[in-house]
Formats: sequence, C-alpha cells, structure tokens
Amino acid sequence: MIESSHEAQTVWSHKARIALFFSAMRHFADDIKSKAYPLEYIKTNDALVETLRVYLRTQGATELMAVEPGDYRVQQEIEQMCQAEKIVCTWLEDTHFYCTKKEFAAWAHQKKELRLEFFYRMMRKKHNVLMEGDEPLGGRWNFDDENRKPYSKKGPGLIPPPLFIEPDEITQKVIQEVQEKFTDHPGELDDFVWPVTRKDALLAIDDFLQNRLIHFGEYQDAMWTQTPFGWHSLISAALNLKLISPQELVDKVVSEGLLQKIDLSTIEGYVRQVIGWREFIRGMYFLDMPHMAQANYFKNTRALPKWYWTGQTKMACMQDTVGQTLRYGYAHHIQRLMVLGNFALLAEVMPQAVADWFLAIYVDAVEWVELPNVAGMALFANGGRFTSKPYIASGAYIKRMSNYCGACRYKSEQRYGDNACPFTNLYWHFLIKNQQDFNKNPRMKLMMANLNKISEDEQKEIVLHAQSILSHIDQI
Ligand SMILES: Cc1cc2nc3c(=O)[nH]c(=O)nc-3n(C[C@H](O)[C@H](O)[C@H](O)COP(=O)(O)OP(=O)(O)OC[C@H]3O[C@@H](n4cnc5c(N)ncnc54)[C@H](O)[C@@H]3O)c2cc1C
Ligand code: SF4
Repeated sequence: MIESSHEAQTVWSHKARIALFFSAMRHFADDIKSKAYPLEYIKTNDALVETLRVYLRTQGATELMAVEPGDYRVQQEIEQMCQAEKIVCTWLEDTHFYCTKKEFAAWAHQKKELRLEFFYRMMRKKHNVLMEGDEPLGGRWNFDDENRKPYSKKGPGLIPPPLFIEPDEITQKVIQEVQEKFTDHPGELDDFVWPVTRKDALLAIDDFLQNRLIHFGEYQDAMWTQTPFGWHSLISAALNLKLISPQELVDKVVSEGLLQKIDLSTIEGYVRQVIGWREFIRGMYFLDMPHMAQANYFKNTRALPKWYWTGQTKMACMQDTVGQTLRYGYAHHIQRLMVLGNFALLAEVMPQAVADWFLAIYVDAVEWVELPNVAGMALFANGGRFTSKPYIASGAYIKRMSNYCGACRYKSEQRYGDNACPFTNLYWHFLIKNQQDFNKNPRMKLMMANLNKISEDEQKEIVLHAQSILSHIDQI
C-alpha cells in the first residue's frame, strides 16, 4: 500500500478527504497485518505511480496484477509505467459493483438513448431486487414523484442525527498530521465523523436503517439551514472506499425497510440511488473517458467564483451549502446538483474548473463518480449524453425546497435590479442566450413558453443585469 502525500496534493483535497483516505488505509493495513498477510506499507511524498515503479524495480518484478482503479488517469499512468519497465500488467475486475464495465458497455451498445430508467429496470430484474416475479414490487418501477417534498414551513422538526464515529487513536494521529502538513488545503477537521473501518461503516448503516430511512424518500430533496444531513444515509464515502459493498447495503435496506413496513416509495427511492444511479454513473465514466473530462457543450470559459472555496458570498443558499461543505466535506445530492452545480452552469463556469472543485471538496469524491455527476448531470457538458435536458432552475425552486431565501439579501422572484436573485437572473439569461438550441428540445418546451411570456424590454434588462453579475461574480 502506498500512502502518497503527493497524490493528496495532485488532486487538491479537503482536509477531511485526506484524513479519511489515510485513516481508512492505515486501519485496513492493520487489519491485513493482524491476519498475517504479507504487506508493505509505504509512506511517501513522491507520486503514487513513481513510488510503485521504484518498488517494482527493487523487487525485480516482471508482472503486476491489480484490481482496476476507479480513476482513468491512475490506470493510464500504471499501464504506461508497466510498458516502460517491460512489466506485464494484468487488471482484475473490481467486484465491489453490481455491474462490470464490460456488462455496461454491452448494455449501452444496444441502446439508442442511454437513460438511467432502462438500465435500472434491467438491474432490478437481473439481481431480483424489489421484484414479484417479472414485475416490480408494488406495480411501479419508480416512485420519484412521491420523493420530492420540501420540509414543512415550520422546519424539518427533529431529525435523528447521524452516528458520529469518535476518532480513535489512529484517526487522531492522521488528523494531527493533516493539520500540520496540509495547512493551506480547504476544509475543517473539527467535526471529522466518517467511518474509517468496515465495523464502523456497518454501525453507520444500522443507525441509518433504524433512525432515518423512514423519511429518506419523502425529504430526499429538501434543504434547510443548520440541517446539513437531513434524512440522508451518509454512506457514500464508506461505499467508495469499499468498506462495505453496494450489494450488502441494498440487501439491508430492502429487508429492514420491508420488516419495518416503511413506505415502498422510500425503499425504492434508496435502492434506485445505489443499484441505479451509482452503477449507471460508473458505467458512463468508463464508457466515455477520456472525452468526458474535456466535454464543454456550452463552451463555457469563466472561472469558478472564489467564494466556492470560502462561502463568503451574500447568497444565503450558497453560504449554507458551501459552509457545510467546508465544515464536513458533505452536502446532499440536491445541494450539489441544484444549488452548487446549477449555479456553476448558469454562471458559465468552465466544466473542468467545476469538476476540480467537486473532486477536491467532498469526502466521497473519486473521479469515476464525481466527474459524470458534474459533467454529465449538473453541467450538461456532454450535451445530454445521458440526460434529456440541463438540470437548471431559478431561485423559485430553491425557495420552494428550502428556507434559504427567507434570510437572503436577494429576492428570489426578482429577475433584475439591485435585489435580483443571481440564480433567477442567470437562469433567465441562460434561457435567452441558448434559446435557439433549447427551442429544439421538447423537454425544454415549458421553460421556453415561460420565457416567451417575458417582454422584450424585460429580457434586455435581464441580459444587462446578468452581464453585470457575471463580471462581478466574486463580489455577489
Ligand atoms: C455534482 C455532483 C457531484 C457528486 N459527486 C459525488 C462524488 O464525488 N462521490 C459520490 O459518491 N457521489 C457524488 N454525487 C452523488 C451524490 O450526491 C452523493 O453520493 C450523495 O450525496 C452522498 O450522500 P449520502 O451517502 O448521504 O447519500 P444518500 O442520499 O443517502 O444516497 C444513498 C447512496 O446512493 C448513492 N447515490 C445517490 N445519488 C448518486 C449519484 N448521482 N451518483 C452516484 N451515487 C449516487 C450514493 O452512494 C449514496 O451514498 C454527486 C452528485 C452531484 C450532483
Ligand atoms: S434569494 Fe436567490 S440567492 Fe438568495 S437564497 Fe434564495 S435562491 Fe439563493
């Protein structure tokens, strides 16, 4: 095992992300050693693949056998190194997924349109998840419509907090090292709460099943100040680090959900994220790399606003979502998609800059899952390869799904003028700017019909105000 500080700097990282990776690695190493398996654990400041090269040379190795990495760059670098060193490189399939790369590619090959829904149904049937014979349990594949509620106007009420795992001695030491060595990296470590062992990950799942699965579906999309975790499971980092497998997670959610007689819409909603989206996203990454990393459908070239790294903006929604991101390295899906990603698209930020930020800032960030979510879902950078329209919304959506707007200096309904909500202004500006393109997309029909109700004079004001916002984006 190679613990490379260089890697933590090449891929710029939140302090909690570095601490999580290193602590999980050291715990895993201890576990391996306790089972008397042979292991060398190398701590280095050098690059990962260079360290591997030196190690293989000292061993006089002629063959390298490894599980395929979840990062295209790492795979390429290892292959190039092996070629240069005349080492035979054999990749072993990653068994921590339901669907292999080959199986996904074969499925995709037969499809005119690559859409989650068809893939998801195929996976449910194949793995017999929530099925009654050939039919979906409850007679429907998808309960999405029931899973989009905001919290009550009075607030989310008492949500059982996630299980916070107290850092043990190993984790405390890692935290101290990260504090000392990675001082200029973003993020905080005071609330490091993440499972770093398989045992902790299983406890975290159990806590979710007993306390929060019940309302997961209903409030999956809801946002509220001082509510960073909502009813979510906080399990992505443990899954991506392979502390647990998606199969065992799905099996537990289904059996415990049915046992507790939890609404099927919630159980299905959760299952879809894991057996559907997570697997689909991974398949798309390997299918579309390396092009996915360069995709830029709207030819956006602007820089990421500086406050993505500090939270210092007047926009209340951004203060909250960036703030909790810096504190925990966590934001839930809708915060990432409809607040942080949505704004980056409307503000015409270059997709690669957005992807770099998302890869740095979340504890669960690894490229196979981060990049397709950013480039494919949030930014439409690949021109709708697996989504039928851009995920864009104005301040009205954020107002409906959260309490952010109540305390904001801006007014969510205002399209231009001093108090105009930047989301709302840039949303209409985006529709105006891309109207020729969007008029051809039937899924954009409603949005375009609404745009057509805005007078020409008002549209001119919107564009003028947007130009001013875009040129002062760091100050809004
Ligand atoms: C722009 C953007 C960037 C993202 N970057 C990452 C990332 O780097 N790493 C990451 O693991 N997830 C990423 N996601 C997906 C999703 O937001 C996180 O998996 C989720 O918020 C993690 O929190 P949770 O465990 O509480 O999830 P829950 O809401 O409790 O969902 C359960 C599980 O479903 C899976 N899941 C849900 N949605 C997705 C999705 N779209 N893609 C893949 N898996 C999904 C996750 O494994 C998650 O743990 C991103 C989403 C967007 C829109
Ligand atoms: S008014 Fe606009 S900027 Fe302010 S919180 Fe609402 S959506 Fe965000």
